[in-house]
Amino acid sequence: MAARTIDGKAVAAAVRERVRVDVAAYGGEAGRAPGLATVLVGDDAASEVYVRMKREACEEVGMRSLHHAPEATIGERELLGLVRRLGEDPEVDGILVQLPLPAHIDENAVVAAINPEKDVDGLTPVSAGRLAHGAPGLVPCTPAGVMELLGHEGAELEGVEAVVVGRSKLVGVPVARLLLAANATVTVCHSRTRDLEAVCRRADVLVAAVGVPRLLGADAVKPGAVVIDVGVNRLEDGLVGDVDYDAVAEVASAITPVPGGVGPMTIAMLLVNTLQAAHARTLSGPA
Ligand code: NAP
Repeated sequence: MAARTIDGKAVAAAVRERVRVDVAAYGGEAGRAPGLATVLVGDDAASEVYVRMKREACEEVGMRSLHHAPEATIGERELLGLVRRLGEDPEVDGILVQLPLPAHIDENAVVAAINPEKDVDGLTPVSAGRLAHGAPGLVPCTPAGVMELLGHEGAELEGVEAVVVGRSKLVGVPVARLLLAANATVTVCHSRTRDLEAVCRRADVLVAAVGVPRLLGADAVKPGAVVIDVGVNRLEDGLVGDVDYDAVAEVASAITPVPGGVGPMTIAMLLVNTLQAAHARTLSGPA
């Protein structure tokens, strides 16, 4: 039996439309549109494309995009100064510093300097701590997108076995925390995990966030599992995920494709986070 394909493009489009409507309502109340500040250091071609897509998505839903593009030679102190100024700027609700940063800059220091109330990428230690404590806060966009797709799919999470392959700060760990918060029984696998396939086969919900093309095949999937493939790997024949889509689609009940699965959700959830940050700041008064 072939699995259902989870259409990330369609779910992301629905989220963006919901945000567009909510942004208009916010504007009516607050008298201004939410503002997202993007910081792109240097001229890395891939980063330029990502930031342009984020800015366009922002404007499409009626938010203001405020862009800063310092030269790659900017000093760390100067960049920290910019990030702190944006943290105090009343026109700015969300701050996104596009990573990676040039090698001479301490990325952790710059991320930690982002005002946590405007941390729409959910990457500051404060946001990670809030997530770990189960406190409300801004959640990293890709993991939030994974949860949105599972919700849209109507996947049962309470009490089920969920296995996350990958333990990065950006994806694996926050996905695991969100699944735990949804009362799944969560196992996190990584490069040292013994008998990865056997652990994955326990999963009712399997999330792959590894970065190894087609690492997980049909033998790693329990019949009927819901499979979310976060991986994006560029091969000569195009983009592929961490899951062998064709083989796993024969076993799973539902699966995300690559491209067109988790990918489109990331920008959609950035918009959700920016609106959430704007609401929180408006309710609590100026930052
Ligand atoms: P990462 O920081 O490189 O982390 C990869 C994780 O996979 C690590 O925890 C690593 O284990 C684990 N791993 C590596 N090889 C393994 C193996 N053979 N067996 C089991 N675990 C293994 O990567 P990331 O930032 O989390 O990204 C993961 C993937 O998602 C990448 O393909 C990335 O491009 C993609 N991604 C997609 C989106 C999107 O919007 N769709 C967003 C972000 C990332 P150790 O910790 O032991 O090293």
